[in-house]
Amino acid sequence: MAKLDIVQIPVLSDNYVYLIREPDSGAVGVVDPAVYEPVLAEADRRGWTITHILNTHHHPDHVGGNLAIKEATGCTIVGPRADAGRIPGIDVEVGDGDSYDFGAETAQVFDVPGHTRGHIAFWFEGSDALFCGDTLFILGCGRLFEGTPAQMWHSLGKLRALPDETRIYCAHEYTQSNARFAVTVDPENDDLTARAAAIDAARARNQPTVPDTMGLEKRTNPFLRADAPGVAEAVGLTGADPVAVFAEVRHRKDSFRG
Ligand code: ZN
Ligand code: FE
Repeated sequence: MAKLDIVQIPVLSDNYVYLIREPDSGAVGVVDPAVYEPVLAEADRRGWTITHILNTHHHPDHVGGNLAIKEATGCTIVGPRADAGRIPGIDVEVGDGDSYDFGAETAQVFDVPGHTRGHIAFWFEGSDALFCGDTLFILGCGRLFEGTPAQMWHSLGKLRALPDETRIYCAHEYTQSNARFAVTVDPENDDLTARAAAIDAARARNQPTVPDTMGLEKRTNPFLRADAPGVAEAVGLTGADPVAVFAEVRHRKDSFRG
């Protein structure tokens, strides 16, 4: 089985939309189309016909292109069952534990509430690819608009359990500001310090920092490390429950100006 071809399309100020193609069947999906024009243009340029839209959650910068792309292509829209009412044009509702066949590949679906109540993630195990929307970012996580710290910590735990080689295709280029914050809550983490420097260098060259791997995230993303003693200590919560540490790290990030 061939792996997915994955094309990253930067749109708006910092969104990434992904075109994914399963080569055996020719199925082509769009993950979280914020907009439609650049997506249709990129598919056209490659001679690809869009057959699917995969939505992680209802925010306009993830579903804004749904109806125009569906009208142009007749594609099938797959999105979160728990939030179907807020996904424009949804055809197929999926949720935790479901598998969705995409050509010869299969996406496993996780419910990952926290950023929104109906957020899902798609994991293509055969391609080591995770599309996680605004749940997990490189060195960060989504804001808790509709969920609790406990929900988000649990959601991130499902993603953290994936193999180290999993590539994280998140929906925003927030990495550099995330890194500036991360070093304040995990100051003794040498892997993080080195990574932050590499990220600054990449951004200075205008290179994307997405995707990167789960293995690196596990070692350096403070939102995946609320159960690490160094993070608890840095936020003054040595020995506290990881949910409390996570809540404090998230709270500090919400007001961080770096
Ligand atoms: Zn969002
Ligand atoms: Fe977003």
